[in-house]
Amino acid sequence: MQTDIKIVLVNTTHSGNIGGVARAMKNMGLSNLVLVAPKSFPSAEASARAAGADDVLTAAIVVESLQQAIADCQLVFATSARERHIPWPIMDPREMAAVICAADKATDGSKVAIVFGREDRGLTNEELHLCQHHVCIPSVASFSSLNIAAAVQVIAYEIRMASLLDVSAQAPQWGTPWDAPLAEQRELELMFDHFESTMVKTGFLDPNSPRQFMTRLRRLIMRALPDKIEVNILRGMLTSITKYIGSEKK
Ligand code: SAH
Repeated sequence: MQTDIKIVLVNTTHSGNIGGVARAMKNMGLSNLVLVAPKSFPSAEASARAAGADDVLTAAIVVESLQQAIADCQLVFATSARERHIPWPIMDPREMAAVICAADKATDGSKVAIVFGREDRGLTNEELHLCQHHVCIPSVASFSSLNIAAAVQVIAYEIRMASLLDVSAQAPQWGTPWDAPLAEQRELELMFDHFESTMVKTGFLDPNSPRQFMTRLRRLIMRALPDKIEVNILRGMLTSITKYIGSEKK
């Protein structure tokens, strides 16, 4: 696979888990680890648990926010053991791996991020809503939460199997090569800000009572996996609305 796959850990508390994740990644051929504000890193405990995957730890990048970690990514998956208030497109790790494999073929080396949450409380709703897909390992409902390194192991194993067996045909939305690169996360965020400010200007969105407008719009647009040209079209339309409002007011 040409695809660059980042494993992103948000606010990990136990540094031993970071080492366990590095080992799980290296076993399955992944090397790109990003740590969002870890409690303690680097640490002797992480190196001990990495058991020979120190190169993954040494190359790990530490950033301040999840947005920074995923800004350049085109496909972003959030892992979660629980269903949340507003339903989001959800898949199991095998389906996720097929999508990554198919996108790899159709789009010429996209950047992918798979995001993992805090040991005690997972990811916040805001963090989950930055991601296009939610991935749930179908564990038993009465004891659903895996240790984070075990969760990374399951996900990394499925990606490895998908790439060894070439399962790209199992993700039908990527049947043909695409004619434009997928939009990056940072471009989507700029577009969502643009939507919000324009809809406030037109009076469609009341900033004092936004309800779930932006969350639902986000979910709609991210479900379509827009490419860079499509994002430019949508933003061009927003700009034209703003200009029109300006000319009406004169
Ligand atoms: N108590 C937390 C679980 C945290 S486990 C919660 O209720 O959300 C730490 C991380 O491991 C989770 O944020 C998720 O990234 C991953 N993880 C654990 N179990 C998982 C599962 N069944 N499916 C997908 N990811 C899981």
